[in-house]
Formats: sequence, C-alpha cells, structure tokens
Amino acid sequence: MQTSSLPPIDATHGAALQSWVMSANGHAQFPIQNLPMGVFDTGAGTRIGVAIGNEVLDLPAVLDAGLLASLDAATTAALRAPTLNDWMALCAAQRGLLRTALSDLLQPQTGAGGQASAIARRLLHPQDRCRMLLPADVGDYSDFYAGIHHATNAGKFFRPDMPLLPNYKHIPIAYHGRSSSIRPSGTAVRRPSGQISRATPGGAVPEYSASQRLDYELELAIWVGAGNELGEQIPVAEASAHIAGFGLFNDWSARDLQAWEYQPLGPFTGKNFMSSVSPWVVTQEALAPFRGPVMERAATDPKPLAYLCDEHDLRHGGLRIQLEVLLSTTRMREQGLDAHRLSIGDSRYLWWTPAQMLTQQTVGGCNARPGDLLGSGTISTPTPDGCGALLEITEGGKNPIHLASGESRTFLLDGDEITLRGWCEREGFARIGLGECRGRVQDRPT
Ligand code: CA
Repeated sequence: MQTSSLPPIDATHGAALQSWVMSANGHAQFPIQNLPMGVFDTGAGTRIGVAIGNEVLDLPAVLDAGLLASLDAATTAALRAPTLNDWMALCAAQRGLLRTALSDLLQPQTGAGGQASAIARRLLHPQDRCRMLLPADVGDYSDFYAGIHHATNAGKFFRPDMPLLPNYKHIPIAYHGRSSSIRPSGTAVRRPSGQISRATPGGAVPEYSASQRLDYELELAIWVGAGNELGEQIPVAEASAHIAGFGLFNDWSARDLQAWEYQPLGPFTGKNFMSSVSPWVVTQEALAPFRGPVMERAATDPKPLAYLCDEHDLRHGGLRIQLEVLLSTTRMREQGLDAHRLSIGDSRYLWWTPAQMLTQQTVGGCNARPGDLLGSGTISTPTPDGCGALLEITEGGKNPIHLASGESRTFLLDGDEITLRGWCEREGFARIGLGECRGRVQDRPT
C-alpha cells in the first residue's frame, strides 16, 4: 500500500522564487508559490486560468501559443474545458507536472524561456476585470461537521443536555447538501422564508415567515479530484490523492428554519437556499508546506477505527490555514468604515483530516466524482474570538455585537456583507492565500 498520497514539498515552493509578473512578488495571496486554478470570464467566453499576483493567466491561450508543450494530452484537454472538472479528474502526478510547468513559465528565464515569457505576458488579464465563476460543475455536495468547537458550541443551543453526541469522535458526521444552490463568491444572498416555530404554552406552533435568524458558517471547501467506482472505497491512505484542492465555503444558515425542521433527518430548507464558495482552487500541491498533525486527541478520547487511520495522514494530513471573517453593513459602507472582524480562526481545529472525510464519504461504496464538494463543517477555535458563526458569537442571539457605526447585530440584516478570508504562513516559506468568499444579503425590494 502507498505510504503517502500527500504531495511533497519541492522546488515550486522555494521561498526565493520570483516571477516576471511583478505584482506576484510578495503578493499576500497569489505569489508564484501558490498558482491556484479558477474559471474566469472577461466577456469573451469562459476559460480556465491560474492566478498570479494581480493577474489571471489564460491557460487555453497559453496552449494555443504553443507554450506548456510538455503536458500530456489529457492535461491539455482538461485546460481547454469550460470548468475544472476534467482538471480535477487528473491524477496527482499530472497536477504536479502542470504546477512545475506553470512555475517554470512564470519565472524569469533566458533564451527560449525568455521568449515564452514575452508571449505569456500578453495572455494575462487583470483580476479586477475578470468575472470569476464557479470552479466546477458540482455534482454532489456533502457538508461535514468536523469543527469540534463549533459542534460543541452549536450543540448547546439545539441540545443543551448533550452538545456533543456520543458518535462524534468515532465517525466523521455529514449530511448531503444541495449542489444546485452553490454559487461563486460575490453572488447576492436572498433571505429565505419557510416554517418557523413559535413557542406557546400549548407547544410549538409553526408560522410562515422570512428567516429572522440568518447566519453564516465559516468552512473550508474540499474539492474532490479523481473519483471512485460505485461499490468501491477510497482507502484513507490514498484519499489525499483524490483531493484536488481547497477553497473557502460559506454555508449560509437560517437558524430558525433549521431549529424547527432538523429532527429527525437533519438540515433541509434552513441550509439549501444558497452556499457560497471562493473562486480559486488552491491545489493540494500548493498546500504541501502547510500541513500538520490531525487535531490532538486526549488520552481518554477514542481511537478511530482502523479504516480511518493512516499514520502518515494522522501526522501530516491536517491543514494549517488561518481564517478570518469580516462583516460590513450598509451603514458602515455609507460611513466609510472598515469591515468589522467577527473572528480569527484556524483550520487546525478540525477533528478529522480531509482524507478521513473523503474516506468516510465512500466507506459504503458511494462513488465520489471529480468536482464533488465537501464542506469541512464550521471551524471555531476554543476561544470566543475564533467562533465561526453568529450563532456562537452572539450565543444564540443573546449577546449582540456592537459595531463602530453604532449598530448592533445578533443575526444578519439585509445589506450585511460577510467576507471569509484564508491564508497560510510558515517560517521559511512564502505566504499564500485562498483569496476570499464574499456574499451580501440582498436588500428587500421596497
Ligand atoms: Ca455547515
């Protein structure tokens, strides 16, 4: 059996690497060490590109120019597709060769390499003139619940007597979400309506209403790469090779709809009205320097069953991504105020690695497909400044947040905008970012 399906740290991660795209050098998100993949449109059609500094490199145009000639036919065809699904279907080795080729192309070269960069320079588009689309056609989406501090905090509101259910530390919990309503960052969010229960002395009485407790959830998007056949499993030791990359994910949640409907089958209309995902897929390869052990277990915690345990994954399969959530309201924007930081978080507080989640998804033989999306679950830290949802920050609406505009919030009002950000830093390596995932609650028509 393979001992590791995680990619190695190689020359493409060198901290000293520079690009001839000057804005990339020292860029907080997209230096040459990152090279995330996305789908963009400049008005001339939908194309796959790679982010470099403040630019997007048009990959079909690069192929048309005869650059990247070392790539095999499957990789070349995948880069000409209108979505990243075919790129995600490539094996890790093919993704790695593409990364090396892009890194070479974007580094200053002499001779023939210099001529290639002169050609590629004309195939850049400023990011602020590109409309970013959903990276893939998402066939299926599952939302996990791997943020243990969120699971504990949120569980208190729904089940004060037993916040963390007995199965939590044994099995990666998820529900199957709705892929049709996943939208790229920047898409407006419409406040959902539905059934809300009103407590009366005689018991709960449902009414139809717009949600009064609209919330966000800070999650990571895990993009599935090469899939598996129906009836087969993806073993945990191989699962990382089946993950193409990562992004930021906002699982918008209507807490009042959720509270009334979630038992016994789980989330439904309180979650399915929309989810937002960041447009850039930061590859499994780019994140190689930013891995670490799975979240530490106490001696009293159960050891997961063997099918979820691979020694290499337990030592290196955890992600080290810093996370931040910002809120701006209509009044704050009118007053020119900076967005309010709601939390600062860290992906190290995921109880399960992405590999363990994908293995659990397929343990019964469910077939995962390229472009499937796994949500990590809301990520919260053990301290109040790192809670990944308003449900936790305001303790179910009991403790409002006070903003510099003089406003306060318990849940989101119309016009409120939530921005998720993520980045990775490690001594000796260039900082890379996941970009951002933004969404504004649409003002209701007046
Ligand atoms: Ca969620």
